[in-house]
Amino acid sequence: RKRNPDEKEFLQATREIFDSLRPVFAKHPEYIRNGILERITEPERIISFRVAWEDDKGKVHVNRGFRVQFNSDLGPYKGGIRFHPSVNSSIMKFLAFEQIFKNALTGQPIGAGKGGSDFDPKGKSEREIMRFTQSFMTELSKHIGPDIDVPAGDIGVGKREIGYMFGQYNRLKGGYEAGVFTGKDPNHGGSLGRKEATGYGTVYFVEEMLNEHNLSFKDSTVIVSGSGNVSTYAIEKAQQLGAKVVACSDSSGYIYDKNGIDLNTVKRLKEVEQKRIWEYTKEHPEAEYYDNCSDIWSIPCDIALPCATQNEIDEMAAHILIANGLKALGEGANMPCTIEAIDIFLENGVLFAPAKAANAGGVAVSAMEMSQNSMRLGWTSEEVDERLKTVMSNIYESCKSAAEQYGEPDNLVMGANIAGFLKVADAMVAHGIR
Ligand code: NDP
Repeated sequence: RKRNPDEKEFLQATREIFDSLRPVFAKHPEYIRNGILERITEPERIISFRVAWEDDKGKVHVNRGFRVQFNSDLGPYKGGIRFHPSVNSSIMKFLAFEQIFKNALTGQPIGAGKGGSDFDPKGKSEREIMRFTQSFMTELSKHIGPDIDVPAGDIGVGKREIGYMFGQYNRLKGGYEAGVFTGKDPNHGGSLGRKEATGYGTVYFVEEMLNEHNLSFKDSTVIVSGSGNVSTYAIEKAQQLGAKVVACSDSSGYIYDKNGIDLNTVKRLKEVEQKRIWEYTKEHPEAEYYDNCSDIWSIPCDIALPCATQNEIDEMAAHILIANGLKALGEGANMPCTIEAIDIFLENGVLFAPAKAANAGGVAVSAMEMSQNSMRLGWTSEEVDERLKTVMSNIYESCKSAAEQYGEPDNLVMGANIAGFLKVADAMVAHGIR
């Protein structure tokens, strides 16, 4: 706290971990002796840089770029790139910190990082996006590589931006290093199933949790916030499992369709035409649009899947969801619930799937993309999906068993934090104090 006084998101993320780890330190003083807590909360390296670019009218703009290389004890730094005006060092550090535990939970050989810029892609032309990403990568390329640091997408960064960054990296290196980026277009070096992986994985994880309590997505009413990459494929899988998804959103507002969201319309509006979510009501007049996205949680539902951004569910939203009969919540986004909201859910018996575990499917399939790139071959969608299901099921089992072992069965927040921590902490002890 003294060292990072203004970094509220980072402090929130570290506090949540520390709260869970108390029983671990009581049982394993060797972690204290090895300074694991102090070391695991200090990034190995933070790179911050100027990104200057010219808009279509010739005006020069300057944004700030970041890459937080947080921990490399389990493998090369791995984590997405976010382009959003809210990006700052606290948000980058919290995301990279969470990535340590999430990546460890996947069981894949990947360390943790995160990067991005306060650049706002909204309203920019295709060429402006290209110029910006090329300028961003010109600096970032000095710090990444297939065995060093392998970025991917996140908010505001999809396959188009990844394509431009990947192209610029290879241009600067004078070759073709397929494994330097994941989330690439499957036609150009990417993995089938990566686009769907985070959303599908979240639903697979939540389905495991529901089944354990004799519940399921089938015939449940579901709300998914956001309408980006994670949300779209969470909606798709929930619908495939028989749920009725009645609402989704963007940062301007939310739509409510009591008949169930028509996903084809959402996909076309968001993935192809890059329009706002309110336009859904033009084609579906029975649906309603409300222009405050955080009110989406006032709609009654059985299962809530926050898939937009951090801190979208606070204490008040948690109380409303519970009063309306919420049974389960799966975090598709990173840290979408405040600590207070999580406590309220756990105290009220809501089944709670924490982000570090529930949304790890994306990075797990990214690691599979790295394997395919190294082997110079590609797996089918079915193969990737089977592997994703297995990874999500294994993550669920390790969270559950850690929670049971440390005396709080059903507390998957604690289970995920402990299981992820133990894996990295043991590697840190083995690698010596550094
Ligand atoms: P996208 O950019 O594809 O979509 C983000 C969605 O959330 C959009 O609908 C966006 O609306 C909305 N949104 C963004 N910021 C805000 C905000 N401040 N308030 C309200 N709504 C907002 O991003 P992703 O789907 O990739 O990522 C969503 C979340 O999932 C993030 O927390 C990310 O870190 C996490 N995540 C993503 C993974 C991935 O594989 N992509 C992997 C693991 C976690 P608008 O279009 O109006 O901005």
